[in-house]
Amino acid sequence: MRVAYENIAAAVKTCRFCGSGEWSTFADLGMSPLVQSFLEARQLDAMEPFYPLHARVCHACFLVQLDEFVAPAAIFGEYAYFSSFSDAWLEHARRYAEAMRERFGLGRSSLVVEIASNDGYLLQHFASAGVPVLGIEPAANVARAARDRGVRTEVSFHGRANAERIVMQYGRADLVIGNNVLAHVPDLNDFVAGMKTLMKPGGVLTMEFPHLQRLIEENQFDTIYHEHFSYFSFCTAEQVFAAHGLTLFDVEELPTHGGSIRIYGRHAEACTAPCTRRVEEMRARELAFGLRDVAIYRKFDAQVRASKRDILDFLIDLKRRGKSIAGYGAPGKGNTLLNYCGIRTDFLDYTVDRSPHKQGRFTPGTHIPIFAPERVRDSRPDYLLILPWNWREEIVAQMSFVREWGCRFIVPIPQPRILP
Ligand SMILES: [Zn+2]
Repeated sequence: MRVAYENIAAAVKTCRFCGSGEWSTFADLGMSPLVQSFLEARQLDAMEPFYPLHARVCHACFLVQLDEFVAPAAIFGEYAYFSSFSDAWLEHARRYAEAMRERFGLGRSSLVVEIASNDGYLLQHFASAGVPVLGIEPAANVARAARDRGVRTEVSFHGRANAERIVMQYGRADLVIGNNVLAHVPDLNDFVAGMKTLMKPGGVLTMEFPHLQRLIEENQFDTIYHEHFSYFSFCTAEQVFAAHGLTLFDVEELPTHGGSIRIYGRHAEACTAPCTRRVEEMRARELAFGLRDVAIYRKFDAQVRASKRDILDFLIDLKRRGKSIAGYGAPGKGNTLLNYCGIRTDFLDYTVDRSPHKQGRFTPGTHIPIFAPERVRDSRPDYLLILPWNWREEIVAQMSFVREWGCRFIVPIPQPRILP
């Protein structure tokens, strides 16, 4: 059945980057609601839209991708994710800005442009050092928050046409930044072409995104959700940027979001200096891991199903022993995990989140109530399941008071386990 279905679908689905129609299933997570559509109490009895959450891999370029079910405007219009709510993320941003100013000698006559600049949490560090900045942010409410802190921000969607308009108005940039935005881009080719438009002849771009190799190695299937259209290896990213006249000359590995990479690009025609050894090493490592062969991608779906069984086994065992479990966090990845595994209030009494935008609401599809973190102190659960497992160290430190009554922390990924 499965094979027949893929053959029918393959005839109409093409790759977002290269246009090839040849693909295989990477992970089929069934039907799922949009992860940011948190519900108000009055919406709990209404129907909710669910969409297929089926990631596939292109046989030609190995881009892992989802079909686009939602217009980006629906995702970003009033986006509930304000970057500034995580301390570790803010520190990451501060260090990045400092390193870039030093490495590329940015000063008062430079221009730094960030695409999807959110509430200005990153650009503020350039601005405070006297480097002129421009944020391009699609969500109007988030852009307002940026302007309130003095970060010049335009409300628009980045692409080639928008970039041409920006260049006319503000000039070209010395540094173009795109952190955790590449996955959200429906028209990948238009987006990358627009980055080239924004850059001065000697300009540089840097982008950070979760590394597909880490997703596979560490079972991070919950990072797949409708708002993430594409999932990149370094080699596939290299192909995409090369197609638009951009050479990736350096790459760094970062611990953020479960394992990300930061790529550095410049105009291919300006690329006289050799690429760093890290580029060679990354290519070799991905090749050895098998990322240039479809077999490794095809195996992932079975790994995801096994992971679901392990997570449910683990939670069922705790419930059989009469333990109470609360969640920590209501991130996008948590909603994929909860919906795919079928975890509702039968397992988690509630979850808590620091974002006031989520408190008082319910998780989409699974209807788990979301409270402020103080709730944990009152209800004293036996276990706290950390849904944003990529922030586990920070969360364990913030919530360490739960150990007073013997509460233990659990992470679901890569395997469900109790933290020491
Ligand atoms: Zn492709």
